[in-house]
Amino acid sequence: TGAALSDLLLSRIRDVADYPKPGVMFKDITPLLADPEAFSALVDALAALCRERGADKVVGLEARGFILGAPAAARAGLGFVPVRKAGKLPGATFGQTYELEYGTAEIEVLTDAFVPGDKVIVIDDVLATGGTAEAALELVRRAGGEVVGLAVLLELGFLGGRDRLAKALGDAPLDAL
Ligand code: AMP
Repeated sequence: TGAALSDLLLSRIRDVADYPKPGVMFKDITPLLADPEAFSALVDALAALCRERGADKVVGLEARGFILGAPAAARAGLGFVPVRKAGKLPGATFGQTYELEYGTAEIEVLTDAFVPGDKVIVIDDVLATGGTAEAALELVRRAGGEVVGLAVLLELGFLGGRDRLAKALGDAPLDAL
């Protein structure tokens, strides 16, 4: 069941206090990745979501979105598109800047990553404030993709990311496993 899956996944996520800086409770997914049963169950569930949403392509957000998104795409029989931090992709890119607590960050995607109208599901590990996902959804649209969903392993609900993403998501569902 969904509840059993959630329990399994949660049991393999480790809380690390004050990382990477004081006051942050870091959600470390490395125990989950190291557990073949939990990792495979997660990839299966993400692949099922990709199919349910009717996606043509899977976008993963650097870096942990790559670890989850790429195997999910392969298992769903779909191609994978990396959204990377600025300066890492070869060739022409679209870029999107977004606000961090201190300063700004920029993510990019190759301009030819999508065929116009491609249905795209975006995958990341943790949804916190939603700033990264918001920028990624905008980027996918600018590159010609149609966003059909956002899927994350873990949503930190108290940070309000879901509300922040309401406009960027539109009709596309947000799933947190
Ligand atoms: P945000 O843009 O605030 O939603 O942050 C999302 C990105 O930062 C994701 O790619 C996460 O991997 C990472 N992140 C933010 N907060 C945490 C946390 N408490 N534990 C683990 N990863 C986090």
